[in-house]
Amino acid sequence: MTKPIICFACKKEIKDKDELVTVNHYFQVTSLHHDCYNKDERGVMAILFPNHRLNGWTGNISFIFMVIIGIALFFMIDHSIRYIPLFFIILECYYHLVSYICFERYLSNVHNDEG
Ligand SMILES: [Zn+2]
Repeated sequence: MTKPIICFACKKEIKDKDELVTVNHYFQVTSLHHDCYNKDERGVMAILFPNHRLNGWTGNISFIFMVIIGIALFFMIDHSIRYIPLFFIILECYYHLVSYICFERYLSNVHNDEG
């Protein structure tokens, strides 16, 4: 039930959930090492993935904010463009689902040494 999670930047395996960073790249979800993501933040990775992290607390907080703002906009705007924020919510849910199904669930029980 395990599959190797390969880092997009260095092509090495990601073994620990703490090391995993998932980002969306156009309509695909890509996995990276935490270090590789941070190291290249102002370089290639910033162009490819404009600071849109999916997993971890930063990803979850931005996701929650996006859902709240999206729903608020949906009820505030009385025009057909109100479906645009709704579309982004659905897209964001899709990214989070893919991030979980493709990467996060494979690493959930790997990390044993707490702290
Ligand atoms: Zn890497």
